[in-house]
Amino acid sequence: MKVIRLRAGRERSLQRRHPWVFESAIAKGGADPGETVRVESAEGEFLAWAAFSPASQIRVRAWSFDAAERIDAAFFERRIARALAMRERLQVPSDAVRLVHGESDGLPGLIVDRYGDTLVAQFGTAGVERWKTVIVEALLRQTGLKRFYERSDASVRALEGLPEQTGWLAGEGATELTIREHDWRLSLDIATGHKTGYYLDQRDNRRRFAEVVRQHGCKRVLNCFSYTGGFSVAALAGGAERVISVDSSGPALARANAHVALNGFEAARHEALDADVNKTLRALIAAGEQFDAIVLDPPKLAPTSAHAERAARAYKDINRLGLKLLAPGGLLFTFSCSGGVGPELFHKIVAGAGMDAQVDAYILERVAAAPDHPQTLYFPEGDYLKGLLLLKQG
Ligand code: SAH
Repeated sequence: MKVIRLRAGRERSLQRRHPWVFESAIAKGGADPGETVRVESAEGEFLAWAAFSPASQIRVRAWSFDAAERIDAAFFERRIARALAMRERLQVPSDAVRLVHGESDGLPGLIVDRYGDTLVAQFGTAGVERWKTVIVEALLRQTGLKRFYERSDASVRALEGLPEQTGWLAGEGATELTIREHDWRLSLDIATGHKTGYYLDQRDNRRRFAEVVRQHGCKRVLNCFSYTGGFSVAALAGGAERVISVDSSGPALARANAHVALNGFEAARHEALDADVNKTLRALIAAGEQFDAIVLDPPKLAPTSAHAERAARAYKDINRLGLKLLAPGGLLFTFSCSGGVGPELFHKIVAGAGMDAQVDAYILERVAAAPDHPQTLYFPEGDYLKGLLLLKQG
């Protein structure tokens, strides 16, 4: 067994059960990509069993903090069983569920989503890449499913020195699927959709949006960064008379239009705008338009805290414009999915946007990702998606 020895004083993070060790914390030792290593303090005390990533700044990711645990096929069986059991408890109101959420499920770098009868996974680190066959077999056996598609094409693979890889790992057939989320039907393509096909983390917030649109009687709704129109369908279900979806992806908008029809809403209630959100917000303000509810769900602008400052300006800009465009008494549902922007910083940014727009707003709710994208006590980075539901003061 290869040993990774840390520098003096750098053992604290693992002792607190945070799974990452950065390159700068390592005094000596090395291993092959994904190989299991024993991580020790400068004094030679056991800290963790971990996977080694020679190409990544995050050089080591812990599998287990228990010196007696063996990292073998049975270990992955146990971790997967625990993750699946947790999802059983949640009773997710959809047949599309995140089954494994990386570090939060003790499997750093592994994302597994279930869409109906199909599993879709992303192997994001050298560790899970090395154990791929074992992991795939365990998931197929434990779920009883037959179809398993790989979407290892996220940018994190490059940081690990891993090539992109996509395609069927088990089973075959159509990659175009239809799922049921709440009372809605939504379609997606697991081969070409964003992430593994859909943004499952916003599931509960989409339902909440339908409820508040109904409760507050919102008629005109603007869904910015709409992707395939999940929040737009929610707004229509909540009784909105007219919904505009804005996104820069043509195929996503075509699907948003299809979702309006699929859920039995009149096409005339929905408009899909293939445009840049920032420009669109400015144009709508210039045209004197107003909305009763606006969703701002931009892509990840700050993957790490190093990008936080530039991202903060971008978040502030769209939130300022959104608050301006909102009718008095209107609702803003605003999100950040940047790991580098914590909930406090996000609140500060949106407050700054309110200042600049010269409006105040009540914070009705603070929201996060749906619970099948769990956070744990020792991994604060799990708190990546945060949202504020604001009511603009009249
Ligand atoms: N709210 C969506 C998920 C949004 S993901 C849901 O519930 O499913 C972010 C979206 O922003 C992506 O669809 C991407 O195509 C779009 N996007 C990124 N930059 C953009 C820009 N500058 N203007 C418009 N859309 C943009």
